[in-house]
Amino acid sequence: MMHHEKRILITGGAGFLGSHLCERLVKEGHDVLCLDNFFTGTKGNIRHLLGRPNFELIRHDLVHPVFLEVDEIYNLACPASPVHYQYNPVKTVKTSVMGAINMLGLAKRVKARILQASTSEIYGNPVVHPQEEGYWGNVNPIGLRSCYDEGKRCAETLFFDYHRQNGVNIKVVRIFNTYGPRMHPNDGRVVSNFIVQALTGREITVYGDGSQTRSFCYVDDLVEGLVRMMNGPDDFPGPVNLGNPTEFTILELAEEAIRLTGSASRIVFKPLPLDDPLQRRPDITLARKSLNWAPETDLETGLERTVDYFRTVLQKT
Ligand code: NAD
Ligand code: UDP
Repeated sequence: MMHHEKRILITGGAGFLGSHLCERLVKEGHDVLCLDNFFTGTKGNIRHLLGRPNFELIRHDLVHPVFLEVDEIYNLACPASPVHYQYNPVKTVKTSVMGAINMLGLAKRVKARILQASTSEIYGNPVVHPQEEGYWGNVNPIGLRSCYDEGKRCAETLFFDYHRQNGVNIKVVRIFNTYGPRMHPNDGRVVSNFIVQALTGREITVYGDGSQTRSFCYVDDLVEGLVRMMNGPDDFPGPVNLGNPTEFTILELAEEAIRLTGSASRIVFKPLPLDDPLQRRPDITLARKSLNWAPETDLETGLERTVDYFRTVLQKT
């Protein structure tokens, strides 16, 4: 396949999603600049790319401005796991808001296209189900998750204001729970927690009664959606949902993790964290129509690949 080679900046490129995106765009022959402060991402995630002539790593904190010349920006920098984004909530807001301002300013100056990794979390604890892009959400502005939710909501506001006010070519995607290889084993998110617990024979920690739902998208499908959105028509800024619409309860996920690992782990129930959304499932009609995109990997297939990855990681430690 022929590609026009572009200079592409990926903020948060050493993280879980970012590293897969870097890999994909390096493979396509683009000049990839990975920017990260290694808060939750690691050099290990992108080590295999470090020797490539079309890959460059910049250690930088996005809260501070940075001057670069690029054609496209994927703005992914922000801790995504509740454990990590609540560790320093003020910093989380700064990363989302000041990071967006810095990247939008850069995009404006160099006339780059810029994609924002927004989140299903902007819908909060949704009363509309499944969630479609027209829904404004049900978010607590002062709770423990607000630093992430409101930071991401403000980033969306900034994207649309830079678009209206300065004509910046924006692309906003709302990502729903995504999983796969290179999730951090201690990341605290449910898929990595359950698989690591199952593989090490520890108790599987289900928060609440496990009846809350999530819809899990495999990372390769998500990355395909990101790239399609970036390369889509100029007059489609989004926001667009990207995620897998097949919905599971957390208890079902726990049982699936046990089954696929053949683990003897038992399930224990822990308190449900504050403001934990009770249900979440994307309506992806818009992504299907506008990007001709839909996920292809079912949960069993994706979990098997993720289990294989964690087996290797755990053997090394
Ligand atoms: P991740 O924590 O693995 O990656 C985030 C990356 O950003 C890390 O490499 C981290 O070191 C970097 N980072 C954090 N703060 C930074 C700063 N101030 N300056 C520079 N780099 C910084 O998480 P992920 O799952 O790969 O998520 C990537 C993006 O996608 C995030 O913006 C997240 O909000 C969004 N998202 C992810 C999911 C999901 O399920 N994985 C769902 C919705 C949205
Ligand atoms: N969860 C759980 N056990 C864990 C980690 C998470 O039961 O060890 C639950 C959590 O309460 C939530 C769901 O799994 O209902 C997804 O949590 P995660 O932190 O992965 O992402 P969220 O979608 O809440 O941002």
